[in-house]
Amino acid sequence: MARLMNFNAGPAALPLAALERAQAELLELGASGMSVMEHSHRGKEYEAVHNEAISLVKSLLQVPDDYDILLQQGGASTQFAVVAMNLLHIGAQAHYILTGAWGEKAFGEAKHAAGLLGGTATVALTTGVGDGKEKSYTRVPKADEVQVADNAAYVHLTSNETINGVQFGITEASDFPRTAAPLVADMSSDFMWRPFDISQFGVIYAGAQKNIGPSGLAVVIVKKDLVAHARKDIPKIFQYRIHAENNSLYNTPPTFGVYMMRNVLSWLKDSGGLYEAETRNRKKAAKVYAAIDAAGGFYKCPVDVDSRSVMNIVFRLPTEELENTFVAEAKKAGMVGLKGHRSVGGIRASTYNAVEPIWVDALAGFMADFAKANG
Ligand code: PMP
Repeated sequence: MARLMNFNAGPAALPLAALERAQAELLELGASGMSVMEHSHRGKEYEAVHNEAISLVKSLLQVPDDYDILLQQGGASTQFAVVAMNLLHIGAQAHYILTGAWGEKAFGEAKHAAGLLGGTATVALTTGVGDGKEKSYTRVPKADEVQVADNAAYVHLTSNETINGVQFGITEASDFPRTAAPLVADMSSDFMWRPFDISQFGVIYAGAQKNIGPSGLAVVIVKKDLVAHARKDIPKIFQYRIHAENNSLYNTPPTFGVYMMRNVLSWLKDSGGLYEAETRNRKKAAKVYAAIDAAGGFYKCPVDVDSRSVMNIVFRLPTEELENTFVAEAKKAGMVGLKGHRSVGGIRASTYNAVEPIWVDALAGFMADFAKANG
Protein backbone atom coordinates (compact mmCIF):
# COMPACT_ATOMS: atom_id res chain seq x y z
CA MET A 1 0.00 0.00 0.00
CA ALA A 2 1.29 3.45 -0.88
CA ARG A 3 -0.14 6.14 1.40
CA LEU A 4 -1.02 9.26 -0.55
CA MET A 5 0.24 12.78 0.05
CA ASN A 6 -2.90 14.00 1.78
CA PHE A 7 -3.73 17.72 1.68
CA ASN A 8 -7.34 17.26 2.84
CA ALA A 9 -8.93 20.10 4.82
CA GLY A 10 -10.48 17.78 7.39
CA PRO A 11 -10.78 14.98 8.12
CA ALA A 12 -7.12 15.31 7.30
CA ALA A 13 -3.78 13.52 7.37
CA LEU A 14 -2.94 11.83 10.66
CA PRO A 15 0.62 11.05 11.74
CA LEU A 16 1.67 7.58 10.61
CA ALA A 17 3.12 6.84 14.06
CA ALA A 18 -0.29 7.48 15.69
CA LEU A 19 -2.04 5.19 13.19
CA GLU A 20 0.56 2.45 13.56
CA ARG A 21 0.22 2.59 17.32
CA ALA A 22 -3.55 2.17 16.92
CA GLN A 23 -2.95 -0.75 14.58
CA ALA A 24 -0.63 -2.44 17.07
CA GLU A 25 -3.06 -1.85 19.95
CA LEU A 26 -6.30 -2.46 18.10
CA LEU A 27 -7.01 -5.97 19.38
CA GLU A 28 -5.61 -5.46 22.83
CA LEU A 29 -4.93 -2.26 24.75
CA GLY A 30 -1.87 -2.98 26.86
CA ALA A 31 -2.38 -6.39 28.46
CA SER A 32 -6.07 -5.76 29.09
CA GLY A 33 -7.57 -8.54 26.96
CA MET A 34 -9.65 -6.23 24.74
CA SER A 35 -9.55 -3.16 22.51
CA VAL A 36 -10.03 0.35 23.85
CA MET A 37 -13.47 0.43 22.19
CA GLU A 38 -14.64 -2.54 24.24
CA HIS A 39 -13.62 -1.17 27.63
CA SER A 40 -16.08 0.47 29.97
CA HIS A 41 -15.60 4.23 30.09
CA ARG A 42 -15.71 3.83 33.88
CA GLY A 43 -12.86 1.30 33.96
CA LYS A 44 -9.26 2.09 34.86
CA GLU A 45 -7.91 1.15 31.40
CA TYR A 46 -10.02 3.70 29.52
CA GLU A 47 -9.72 6.26 32.28
CA ALA A 48 -5.94 6.20 31.96
CA VAL A 49 -6.21 6.95 28.23
CA HIS A 50 -8.78 9.70 28.86
CA ASN A 51 -6.69 11.39 31.52
CA GLU A 52 -3.51 11.11 29.47
CA ALA A 53 -5.28 12.79 26.51
CA ILE A 54 -6.38 15.67 28.75
CA SER A 55 -3.00 16.03 30.40
CA LEU A 56 -1.28 16.10 27.00
CA VAL A 57 -3.50 19.03 25.98
CA LYS A 58 -2.66 20.73 29.26
CA SER A 59 1.09 20.21 29.09
CA LEU A 60 1.58 20.86 25.36
CA LEU A 61 -0.40 24.12 25.52
CA GLN A 62 0.56 24.99 29.10
CA VAL A 63 -3.08 25.51 29.98
CA PRO A 64 -3.30 27.49 33.25
CA ASP A 65 -5.00 25.88 36.26
CA ASP A 66 -7.96 28.25 36.10
CA TYR A 67 -9.18 26.59 32.89
CA ASP A 68 -11.17 23.38 32.42
CA ILE A 69 -10.30 21.09 29.53
CA LEU A 70 -13.41 19.29 28.25
CA LEU A 71 -13.77 16.52 25.69
CA GLN A 72 -17.07 16.91 23.89
CA GLN A 73 -19.07 15.08 21.25
CA GLY A 74 -20.69 16.60 18.17
CA GLY A 75 -17.68 18.29 16.61
CA ALA A 76 -17.17 22.02 16.45
CA SER A 77 -20.62 22.76 15.01
CA THR A 78 -22.28 21.64 18.23
CA GLN A 79 -20.09 24.15 20.08
CA PHE A 80 -21.45 26.93 17.85
CA ALA A 81 -24.73 26.50 19.73
CA VAL A 82 -23.37 25.31 23.08
CA VAL A 83 -21.13 28.35 23.58
CA ALA A 84 -24.12 30.65 23.17
CA MET A 85 -26.36 28.45 25.33
CA ASN A 86 -23.87 28.60 28.19
CA LEU A 87 -22.65 32.18 27.99
CA LEU A 88 -25.50 34.24 26.59
CA HIS A 89 -27.58 35.21 29.61
CA ILE A 90 -31.03 36.76 29.30
CA GLY A 91 -30.68 40.31 27.99
CA ALA A 92 -26.98 39.88 27.22
CA GLN A 93 -25.34 40.49 23.87
CA ALA A 94 -22.56 38.58 22.09
CA HIS A 95 -20.45 40.02 19.26
CA TYR A 96 -19.27 37.92 16.33
CA ILE A 97 -16.20 38.97 14.35
CA LEU A 98 -16.71 37.47 10.89
CA THR A 99 -13.73 36.57 8.73
CA GLY A 100 -15.18 33.68 6.74
CA ALA A 101 -17.75 30.96 6.26
CA TRP A 102 -17.31 29.18 9.60
CA GLY A 103 -17.72 32.38 11.60
CA GLU A 104 -20.96 32.97 9.71
CA LYS A 105 -22.18 29.51 10.70
CA ALA A 106 -21.22 30.07 14.33
CA PHE A 107 -23.08 33.40 14.26
CA GLY A 108 -26.16 31.76 12.71
CA GLU A 109 -26.33 29.16 15.47
CA ALA A 110 -25.82 31.81 18.16
CA LYS A 111 -28.78 33.77 16.74
CA HIS A 112 -30.94 30.66 16.98
CA ALA A 113 -29.82 30.00 20.54
CA ALA A 114 -30.34 33.67 21.46
CA GLY A 115 -33.86 33.58 20.00
CA LEU A 116 -34.74 30.66 22.24
CA LEU A 117 -32.95 31.80 25.35
CA GLY A 118 -33.47 35.55 25.43
CA GLY A 119 -30.13 37.13 24.54
CA THR A 120 -28.90 38.68 21.31
CA ALA A 121 -26.03 37.92 18.95
CA THR A 122 -24.78 40.64 16.62
CA VAL A 123 -22.00 41.06 14.11
CA ALA A 124 -19.10 43.02 15.59
CA LEU A 125 -18.25 46.29 13.89
CA THR A 126 -14.91 45.98 12.19
CA THR A 127 -13.89 49.11 10.28
CA GLY A 128 -11.97 48.43 7.10
CA VAL A 129 -13.25 44.90 6.79
CA GLY A 130 -16.93 45.78 7.22
CA ASP A 131 -18.73 42.57 7.92
CA GLY A 132 -16.01 40.86 5.93
CA LYS A 133 -18.14 40.22 2.88
CA GLU A 134 -17.23 43.58 1.31
CA LYS A 135 -13.77 42.24 0.67
CA SER A 136 -14.89 38.61 0.34
CA TYR A 137 -13.00 37.77 3.47
CA THR A 138 -9.45 38.44 2.43
CA ARG A 139 -8.05 39.55 5.78
CA VAL A 140 -8.70 39.68 9.49
CA PRO A 141 -9.42 43.09 11.04
CA LYS A 142 -6.54 44.80 12.78
CA ALA A 143 -6.86 44.89 16.55
CA ASP A 144 -7.75 48.61 16.54
CA GLU A 145 -10.43 48.12 13.88
CA VAL A 146 -12.60 45.97 16.13
CA GLN A 147 -15.31 47.75 18.10
CA VAL A 148 -17.05 45.66 20.70
CA ALA A 149 -18.87 46.58 23.88
CA ASP A 150 -16.85 46.04 27.05
CA ASN A 151 -19.91 44.58 28.70
CA ALA A 152 -20.63 42.04 25.94
CA ALA A 153 -21.23 38.51 27.22
CA TYR A 154 -18.43 37.41 24.89
CA VAL A 155 -16.73 38.19 21.58
CA HIS A 156 -16.46 35.29 19.14
CA LEU A 157 -13.96 34.82 16.33
CA THR A 158 -12.71 32.03 14.11
CA SER A 159 -8.93 31.97 14.50
CA ASN A 160 -8.44 30.24 11.16
CA GLU A 161 -11.06 30.21 8.42
CA THR A 162 -10.59 26.81 6.82
CA ILE A 163 -12.45 27.65 3.60
CA ASN A 164 -11.21 31.21 3.06
CA GLY A 165 -7.60 30.67 4.18
CA VAL A 166 -7.69 33.68 6.52
CA GLN A 167 -5.96 33.39 9.90
CA PHE A 168 -5.46 35.54 12.99
CA GLY A 169 -2.12 35.89 14.72
CA ILE A 170 0.24 35.23 11.81
CA THR A 171 2.05 38.56 12.12
CA GLU A 172 1.71 41.47 14.53
CA ALA A 173 -0.70 43.13 12.08
CA SER A 174 -3.12 40.19 12.30
CA ASP A 175 -2.90 39.70 16.06
CA PHE A 176 -5.96 38.76 18.08
CA PRO A 177 -8.00 41.72 19.33
CA ARG A 178 -7.70 42.46 23.04
CA THR A 179 -11.20 42.72 24.40
CA ALA A 180 -12.54 43.45 27.87
CA ALA A 181 -15.27 40.88 27.25
CA PRO A 182 -14.19 37.21 27.17
CA LEU A 183 -12.81 36.20 23.79
CA VAL A 184 -14.21 32.93 22.41
CA ALA A 185 -12.24 31.31 19.59
CA ASP A 186 -13.17 28.53 17.21
CA MET A 187 -9.70 27.06 16.67
CA SER A 188 -10.86 23.96 14.82
CA SER A 189 -8.40 24.26 11.98
CA ASP A 190 -5.46 25.81 13.83
CA PHE A 191 -5.52 24.19 17.23
CA MET A 192 -2.10 23.07 18.43
CA TRP A 193 -0.11 24.18 15.42
CA ARG A 194 2.04 26.33 17.71
CA PRO A 195 2.25 27.55 21.32
CA PHE A 196 0.07 30.54 22.24
CA ASP A 197 -1.10 32.40 25.31
CA ILE A 198 -4.30 30.73 26.47
CA SER A 199 -4.98 33.41 29.05
CA GLN A 200 -6.17 35.94 26.44
CA PHE A 201 -9.18 33.67 25.74
CA GLY A 202 -12.27 32.83 27.76
CA VAL A 203 -13.16 29.81 25.62
CA ILE A 204 -11.29 27.91 22.92
CA TYR A 205 -12.96 25.08 21.07
CA ALA A 206 -11.75 22.85 18.28
CA GLY A 207 -13.07 19.92 16.30
CA ALA A 208 -10.35 17.27 16.34
CA GLN A 209 -10.29 16.22 12.70
CA LYS A 210 -7.62 18.58 11.40
CA ASN A 211 -4.64 18.69 13.74
CA ILE A 212 -5.34 16.32 16.59
CA GLY A 213 -7.46 13.29 15.71
CA PRO A 214 -10.64 11.92 14.15
CA SER A 215 -13.95 13.73 13.60
CA GLY A 216 -16.83 13.83 16.09
CA LEU A 217 -14.67 14.89 19.02
CA ALA A 218 -14.15 18.48 20.12
CA VAL A 219 -11.80 19.87 22.74
CA VAL A 220 -13.11 22.82 24.76
CA ILE A 221 -10.81 24.86 26.99
CA VAL A 222 -12.89 27.16 29.13
CA LYS A 223 -12.08 29.52 31.96
CA LYS A 224 -13.41 28.22 35.24
CA ASP A 225 -15.15 31.45 36.20
CA LEU A 226 -17.13 31.32 32.94
CA VAL A 227 -18.13 27.74 33.74
CA ALA A 228 -19.21 28.79 37.21
CA HIS A 229 -21.40 31.62 35.89
CA ALA A 230 -22.75 29.78 32.84
CA ARG A 231 -26.48 29.26 32.46
CA LYS A 232 -28.13 26.52 34.49
CA ASP A 233 -31.48 26.70 32.71
CA ILE A 234 -30.35 24.77 29.64
CA PRO A 235 -30.42 20.96 29.33
CA LYS A 236 -27.77 19.36 31.52
CA ILE A 237 -26.06 17.63 28.62
CA PHE A 238 -25.16 21.05 27.16
CA GLN A 239 -23.88 22.59 30.39
CA TYR A 240 -20.12 23.03 30.56
CA ARG A 241 -20.49 22.83 34.35
CA ILE A 242 -21.78 19.26 34.21
CA HIS A 243 -18.96 18.09 31.96
CA ALA A 244 -16.34 19.91 34.05
CA GLU A 245 -17.65 18.40 37.29
CA ASN A 246 -17.52 14.94 35.75
CA ASN A 247 -14.11 15.13 34.04
CA SER A 248 -15.96 14.79 30.68
CA LEU A 249 -17.32 11.40 31.82
CA TYR A 250 -20.89 12.53 32.51
CA ASN A 251 -22.05 10.27 29.71
CA THR A 252 -20.13 7.85 27.50
CA PRO A 253 -17.42 9.81 25.70
CA PRO A 254 -16.32 8.92 22.13
CA THR A 255 -13.69 6.60 23.56
CA PHE A 256 -11.93 5.63 20.33
CA GLY A 257 -11.70 9.27 19.24
CA VAL A 258 -10.18 10.22 22.57
CA TYR A 259 -7.76 7.30 22.28
CA MET A 260 -6.68 8.47 18.80
CA MET A 261 -6.23 12.01 20.08
CA ARG A 262 -3.99 10.59 22.81
CA ASN A 263 -1.89 8.86 20.12
CA VAL A 264 -1.65 12.01 17.99
CA LEU A 265 -0.72 14.26 20.92
CA SER A 266 1.88 11.85 22.24
CA TRP A 267 3.41 11.82 18.72
CA LEU A 268 3.34 15.63 18.78
CA LYS A 269 5.15 15.66 22.11
CA ASP A 270 7.75 13.13 20.90
CA SER A 271 8.35 15.12 17.75
CA GLY A 272 9.43 18.17 19.73
CA GLY A 273 6.19 19.76 20.95
CA LEU A 274 4.57 22.94 19.74
CA TYR A 275 7.67 25.11 19.24
CA GLU A 276 9.05 22.56 16.77
CA ALA A 277 5.61 22.21 15.20
CA GLU A 278 5.41 25.96 14.60
CA THR A 279 8.80 26.02 12.87
CA ARG A 280 7.85 23.07 10.66
CA ASN A 281 4.42 24.48 9.85
CA ARG A 282 5.65 27.99 9.02
CA LYS A 283 8.31 26.55 6.71
CA LYS A 284 5.78 24.34 4.92
CA ALA A 285 3.33 27.20 4.35
CA ALA A 286 6.10 29.59 3.28
CA LYS A 287 7.12 27.10 0.58
CA VAL A 288 3.63 26.96 -0.92
CA TYR A 289 3.17 30.75 -0.79
CA ALA A 290 6.61 31.14 -2.39
CA ALA A 291 5.52 28.78 -5.17
CA ILE A 292 2.40 30.93 -5.67
CA ASP A 293 4.39 34.17 -5.76
CA ALA A 294 7.17 32.77 -7.99
CA ALA A 295 4.84 31.82 -10.84
CA GLY A 296 4.59 35.30 -12.37
CA GLY A 297 0.88 35.76 -11.66
CA PHE A 298 -0.21 32.30 -12.86
CA TYR A 299 -1.33 31.51 -9.30
CA LYS A 300 -3.19 34.14 -7.28
CA CYS A 301 -3.77 34.03 -3.53
CA PRO A 302 -6.65 36.39 -2.68
CA VAL A 303 -5.63 36.75 0.99
CA ASP A 304 -3.64 39.75 2.31
CA VAL A 305 -0.09 38.77 3.26
CA ASP A 306 -0.56 39.36 7.01
CA SER A 307 -3.63 37.12 7.20
CA ARG A 308 -2.44 34.28 4.97
CA SER A 309 -3.22 31.04 6.74
CA VAL A 310 -0.41 28.70 7.70
CA MET A 311 -2.88 25.81 7.73
CA ASN A 312 -5.10 26.24 4.64
CA ILE A 313 -3.46 27.85 1.62
CA VAL A 314 -5.97 28.97 -1.00
CA PHE A 315 -5.21 30.09 -4.53
CA ARG A 316 -6.69 30.44 -7.99
CA LEU A 317 -5.44 29.58 -11.45
CA PRO A 318 -6.30 31.60 -14.59
CA THR A 319 -9.37 29.43 -15.40
CA GLU A 320 -11.56 26.84 -13.71
CA GLU A 321 -10.60 24.41 -16.44
CA LEU A 322 -6.93 24.77 -15.51
CA GLU A 323 -7.85 24.28 -11.85
CA ASN A 324 -9.55 20.99 -12.71
CA THR A 325 -6.51 19.88 -14.70
CA PHE A 326 -4.25 20.90 -11.81
CA VAL A 327 -6.23 18.76 -9.37
CA ALA A 328 -6.33 15.78 -11.77
CA GLU A 329 -2.61 15.89 -12.56
CA ALA A 330 -1.66 16.35 -8.91
CA LYS A 331 -3.71 13.26 -8.13
CA LYS A 332 -1.78 11.28 -10.73
CA ALA A 333 1.39 12.37 -8.90
CA GLY A 334 0.02 11.06 -5.58
CA MET A 335 -1.22 14.38 -4.14
CA VAL A 336 -4.87 14.49 -3.08
CA GLY A 337 -7.27 16.83 -1.29
CA LEU A 338 -6.29 19.93 -3.28
CA LYS A 339 -9.70 20.98 -4.59
CA GLY A 340 -10.96 24.17 -2.94
CA HIS A 341 -14.20 24.09 -0.94
CA ARG A 342 -17.21 23.80 -3.25
CA SER A 343 -18.57 27.18 -2.05
CA VAL A 344 -15.52 29.15 -3.24
CA GLY A 345 -13.78 26.95 -5.83
CA GLY A 346 -10.08 27.25 -6.62
CA ILE A 347 -7.32 25.23 -4.99
CA ARG A 348 -6.71 24.67 -1.29
CA ALA A 349 -3.67 22.96 0.18
CA SER A 350 -4.07 22.12 3.86
CA THR A 351 -0.74 21.76 5.60
CA TYR A 352 -1.66 20.61 9.11
CA ASN A 353 0.81 19.19 11.63
CA ALA A 354 0.81 15.68 10.12
CA VAL A 355 1.43 16.87 6.56
CA GLU A 356 5.03 15.88 5.85
CA PRO A 357 7.51 18.56 4.71
CA ILE A 358 8.51 16.30 1.78
CA TRP A 359 4.90 16.29 0.55
CA VAL A 360 5.00 20.07 0.55
CA ASP A 361 8.29 20.01 -1.39
CA ALA A 362 6.61 17.73 -3.91
CA LEU A 363 3.63 20.09 -4.17
CA ALA A 364 5.83 23.18 -4.63
CA GLY A 365 7.79 21.38 -7.36
CA PHE A 366 4.57 20.28 -9.05
CA MET A 367 3.22 23.85 -8.94
CA ALA A 368 6.35 25.25 -10.61
CA ASP A 369 6.23 22.59 -13.36
CA PHE A 370 2.49 23.06 -13.91
CA ALA A 371 2.83 26.84 -14.22
CA LYS A 372 5.69 26.45 -16.72
CA ALA A 373 3.73 23.97 -18.81
CA ASN A 374 0.43 25.89 -18.77
CA GLY A 375 1.33 29.54 -18.20
N1 PMP B 1 -15.12 25.46 12.43
C1 PMP B 1 -14.13 25.39 11.53
C2 PMP B 1 -13.12 26.49 11.48
C3 PMP B 1 -14.08 24.30 10.66
O1 PMP B 1 -13.09 24.22 9.75
C4 PMP B 1 -15.04 23.28 10.76
C5 PMP B 1 -15.02 22.05 9.88
N2 PMP B 1 -14.39 22.11 8.71
C6 PMP B 1 -16.06 23.41 11.70
C7 PMP B 1 -16.05 24.51 12.53
C8 PMP B 1 -17.15 22.39 11.83
O2 PMP B 1 -16.63 21.26 12.44
P1 PMP B 1 -17.48 19.92 12.61
O3 PMP B 1 -17.68 19.39 11.25
O4 PMP B 1 -16.59 19.09 13.48
O5 PMP B 1 -18.74 20.27 13.28
